[in-house]
Amino acid sequence: MKPKELLGTTFTCECGRSHTIPIKRLVYAEDVLERLPKVLGSLVDGRSIVLVADRRTWDIAGRSAKEALEQTGWSTRHIIVPDAGGSSPVCDDTTHDWLNERLPNADIALAVGSGVINDLTKWSAFERDLPYAALATAATMNGFTAANVAPAVEGVKTLIGARPPLAVFAIPSVIVAAPFELTASGLGDTIAKPVSTADWLLNHIFCDEYFCRYCSEMINELEPCYLDRPEEIKNRKPAAIEALFDALLYSGIAMTIVGTSAPASGGEHLLSHTLDMMSVVDGIGHDLHGRQVGLGAIFASALYDHIFRIESPKAHPLFSDIDESFWASLAENVREQYEQKKPALRIIREKLRNGDTWRAFRDAARQQVRCPREIKKCLKTAGAAHTFADIGCSRERLLAAALHMHEIRKRPTIVDLAWMVGILPDAAGQIIDTWLTG
Ligand SMILES: [Zn+2]
Ligand SMILES: [Zn+2]
Repeated sequence: MKPKELLGTTFTCECGRSHTIPIKRLVYAEDVLERLPKVLGSLVDGRSIVLVADRRTWDIAGRSAKEALEQTGWSTRHIIVPDAGGSSPVCDDTTHDWLNERLPNADIALAVGSGVINDLTKWSAFERDLPYAALATAATMNGFTAANVAPAVEGVKTLIGARPPLAVFAIPSVIVAAPFELTASGLGDTIAKPVSTADWLLNHIFCDEYFCRYCSEMINELEPCYLDRPEEIKNRKPAAIEALFDALLYSGIAMTIVGTSAPASGGEHLLSHTLDMMSVVDGIGHDLHGRQVGLGAIFASALYDHIFRIESPKAHPLFSDIDESFWASLAENVREQYEQKKPALRIIREKLRNGDTWRAFRDAARQQVRCPREIKKCLKTAGAAHTFADIGCSRERLLAAALHMHEIRKRPTIVDLAWMVGILPDAAGQIIDTWLTG
């Protein structure tokens, strides 16, 4: 069954589990504002709503959404989240507290914006037990339909469990006209999918982690629309942008169904998270999530290239601890995550001796991963970030991130495996020079 037909339902899956999609409606249409009051009215009983936006998204869609709702008898309030440091709002504990203090009682909240506004609204709405919906203004990341929020708490990138929106609305002409770097960022976030699926299989094959083929293939039909025709993203062809936006929404849905980020986030994401965390330590800025993830996807697929060439791996010793001086104020938190990963790392290392397991993993991963050349070409042709200069980062900084990113999450990825079989650290500089420089 197509996932669109399963919205708002519970169904039995071939993986043996029964899945529930809590998102009831996805409305991508030019007349969204006319339909908004009726659709929201079908999702909740009351007629009071609070809209959350930033300065830009209020102008783009917030004000007109509020008018459309008021004209049909809704009582509305709205909150404009202030910009941090003059650019855009951030999703962190400070902004969260700010929003919580101001969030009035209502029957539903509507997040008008993309990543940050959606995450902030989702987080506060969950704590208040308030239903929420999203009016998206850019195809910039896959968090719209995810249950989790990924804020920085005391500077550390954290995952907080919340609830996905009841509905996501978007006006095609608004999504197509969004600042191009946001759309290109969405492409970078989605291009991670083949790598993250392979990483999911790594955990499945070596550590018996649950794997759902249906969820892993949910966006397969959409992928050719942007991966094989990146110039159409660059030229803002509506059909390609719609496919990208759908892919972002359904990646989020896959994560919601599975209950972890496994379907859409693997080793490639660690590069982006590490760059974000380095910013917390030294105050040097970082780029948009998806733009950094795009580079991470090239890097991780180059690691897979190395893996595919190994017939029988030799297991190198595991690290006993993280690099405390590198993480500075974040070291305690990073160590806590890394400690949780150690048992799984030991299992993988032990099973490296088993030739059948190694071959099973290699064969399964090979069917998923795209080669670094293909990923780079797609990003480059689409006008997305694909070099360290594009994300405003030096070679040295990117290399430092690449050599520390395996320390930050409790779930093994291709990056851990690359250390374990001796591909890293040596390959890191070479991968950067070959794939992420020009
Ligand atoms: Zn399933
Ligand atoms: Zn992402």
